[in-house]
Amino acid sequence: MTDELTRLDRAHHLHPFTDFKALGEEGSRIIVHAEGVYIHDSEGRRLLDAMAGLWCVNLGYGREELITAATEQLRELPYYNNFFKSTHAPAVKLAAKLSEIAPAHMNHVFFTGSGSEANDTMLRMARRYWALKGKPEKQWIIARENAYHGSTVAGMSLGGMAPMHEQGGPLVPGITHVRQPYWFGEGRFGEGPLNDAADPSAQAFGRDCAAAIEARILELGEDKVAAFIAEPVQGAGGAIIPPESYWPAVKAVLAKYDILLVVDEVICGFGRLGAWFGSMHYDLAPDLMPIAKGLSSGYLPIGGVLVGDRVADTLIEEGGEFFHGFTYSGHPVCAAVALKNLEILQDERVIERVREDLGPYLASRWATLAEHPIVGEARSLGLIGALELVADKAGRARFDKSLAAGNLCRDICIERGLVMRSVGDTMIISPPLVITHAQIDAMVDLARDALDETARRLSLQIAH
Ligand code: PMP
Repeated sequence: MTDELTRLDRAHHLHPFTDFKALGEEGSRIIVHAEGVYIHDSEGRRLLDAMAGLWCVNLGYGREELITAATEQLRELPYYNNFFKSTHAPAVKLAAKLSEIAPAHMNHVFFTGSGSEANDTMLRMARRYWALKGKPEKQWIIARENAYHGSTVAGMSLGGMAPMHEQGGPLVPGITHVRQPYWFGEGRFGEGPLNDAADPSAQAFGRDCAAAIEARILELGEDKVAAFIAEPVQGAGGAIIPPESYWPAVKAVLAKYDILLVVDEVICGFGRLGAWFGSMHYDLAPDLMPIAKGLSSGYLPIGGVLVGDRVADTLIEEGGEFFHGFTYSGHPVCAAVALKNLEILQDERVIERVREDLGPYLASRWATLAEHPIVGEARSLGLIGALELVADKAGRARFDKSLAAGNLCRDICIERGLVMRSVGDTMIISPPLVITHAQIDAMVDLARDALDETARRLSLQIAH
């Protein structure tokens, strides 16, 4: 069966974010089953999934309640849309539940099928809002380098991933990118002194990054800028936790020039940082929040945009018809599963546990990896974390790019039974929020073994 699947996969299946030819030569790992924080492949191996799939399986695999919610809804009403004056209970209940858990000033949601569609939606809403306010020139969206906001044309235009921009342009006009608050990569391992993220130079760096937003606003003209979009903690860019000074300074800049704040919660939403939303952890009070992933723990595809009262009131009172929507906006089965997922997160106090117990526990165990000779920084917040691989801590040197140290470490992790992702030479984790202390211990031990082996193989390569 494995051989047959491999053959058919190679013959017919174009995978996302994949070099098709290279994968054709290597073949894919086939995942057949999963439970809790573990996935199983067709070779009978069990792997600890420290990425929760793609940052989404917040409740872990195999939750019967979600399966039941889907099955019952499939029987009751497998599909109907929310167009043309119709609606159904799952979409309505989910909208009400989201309004209950969201920041107090956010009371409306527009549903989508994914995070990318959520970002397309928010872009149209932000520009429409200003047009309705009599300021149609307020069109520019300021985003950040190395951000990820999706793979639709608007999503990738908003994102700051240079390799994506190089393919499939031209990009959506009216989007500009400013520097990211990546202290380790662009501050500390750049010119700054060797200190941790609480030190004054990291804080100064955070304020500089916020000042870059103000400079861009002044360059474009404040009456031309609609919104600023950012992830609370950058995910795909490398689990980048901004210095504490960053967000308060950004908020002040946006308030000064009356610019909407869009906080992309696709990864940070639904508990990842130990609060319902990253915006709550950082006290951001955004105008728009794209959501997806953890909304249904990834069991079924669903996303949306949570809309703050200021924008919602304008769109509702003054907007007329909003010419936008997807066949699967508020899909009943996806919505039923998402609702059950939110109820479980609430009933089992999963998010409180991340904040009070699991997050601090991970932080204490993860920090021990900073002692490893090839780790320049081990950082975490809630249940997201990263390790920065370096060749020389004292001399502040990264590994030569040709060594592809991050990919090597990722492959060694897989050999040892751990799914950890690499972004360049940054290793990242984002495990299910139901991981136990013992599983965190196992994850850290596997990571340490993989680092040892990575160091050994790299030193062999460097020696030759
Ligand atoms: N925004 C962020 C912050 C993301 O991490 C992602 C997906 N990794 C997206 C948007 C896009 O979501 P989707 O893949 O569901 O379109």
